[in-house]
Amino acid sequence: EKGAILMKNFLSQLALGLEPYVPGEQPKDRKYVKLNTNENPYPPSEKVEAAIHGVAMDQLRLYPDPESTDLRVTIADYFNGLVDCESALLTANNVFMGNGSDEILAFVFPAFFTGRYIVFPNITYSFYPVYANLFQTEYREIPLLEDFSVRVEDYLNLASKGDLGADGILIPNPNAPTGRALSKAEIEQIVASNPEIVVAVDEAYIDFGGESVVDLVPKYDNLLVIHTLSKSRSLAGLRVGFAIGSDILIDGLNRVKNSFNSYTMDRIAMAGAKAAILDHDHFNENRNKIIATRERVVGRLEAMGFSVVPSKANFIFISHETKPAAELFYGLRELGILVRYFKKPLIDNHLRVSIGTDEEMDQFLKALASLI
Ligand code: PMP
Repeated sequence: EKGAILMKNFLSQLALGLEPYVPGEQPKDRKYVKLNTNENPYPPSEKVEAAIHGVAMDQLRLYPDPESTDLRVTIADYFNGLVDCESALLTANNVFMGNGSDEILAFVFPAFFTGRYIVFPNITYSFYPVYANLFQTEYREIPLLEDFSVRVEDYLNLASKGDLGADGILIPNPNAPTGRALSKAEIEQIVASNPEIVVAVDEAYIDFGGESVVDLVPKYDNLLVIHTLSKSRSLAGLRVGFAIGSDILIDGLNRVKNSFNSYTMDRIAMAGAKAAILDHDHFNENRNKIIATRERVVGRLEAMGFSVVPSKANFIFISHETKPAAELFYGLRELGILVRYFKKPLIDNHLRVSIGTDEEMDQFLKALASLI
């Protein structure tokens, strides 16, 4: 019995002391219109299906390429194709692959955020403090302005405060769950004014109207840009994310990955991801549909008395002038519509609503109208 108590005390100082991230619901009790986890409502490119089927059983017997070289070349070429400046070319050495961008973030902490403290906004993606606690990284949260925007000045010259300075900046653009984005020039200011420390920009939602800073990577050794195929490529179930950064940063991430699990990318995920990245038409059509639906829904919501935070993401952050968000959340749930409600200070009067198909959004608007 004494041993059990000692073990319990020991564990409570370790894993039992962690406060894990709680992902959005994936309910099984009934069929919902699912607008709660920012998944893409449209299927991925058909070429993904063909590519996955093309992975022969015999190949699954073999370990995958631990360096995902073919996929990294595809990604570097993809971004090179978006810019016309020859001098700013990326190579596979600027690309790092992970099992979802959550895993990339998990590697960023032990690779770069091991010093005094890092900063990120408050409010932001709730996984950041979870990772900070897991990796015992000190962090300071920088409040958003009242309209939920990030104040760029708060992030300038953070590293140059001598021993008191920050060792890293983690900034999502667009931010989650607000959907607000900084411009490319604003992110560049932050990166340029903190040359001694890593600035990790989480661009999970960048393809829905934001301005990516991937093309600044050749200019700034301290910039790491993190992307995912979960949102704009409709592949949340395949778990593929990647980071783009200078050779030095990518080398740092590889050292962590290869000290932990060299085979983060399986053969099926690599094949599917490559096909998705190469299908430009599907990608553009898909994201343009979401943007158009978002704009239409925003207009309707504003006419219904909702405030909508300007969004460059595949979700919107809304509040009603009189109806409490919690009441709307439970009301919508009763009516078979799932959205996200965060019971947290500052945002507990808001709902985060992922952009679904036009039909789904019409059901959402109809249900909402019946509740207010
Ligand atoms: N960053 C942000 C800001 C997110 O909202 C999410 C999705 N929950 C992720 C990263 C992780 O996405 P994934 O692991 O599916 O690539």
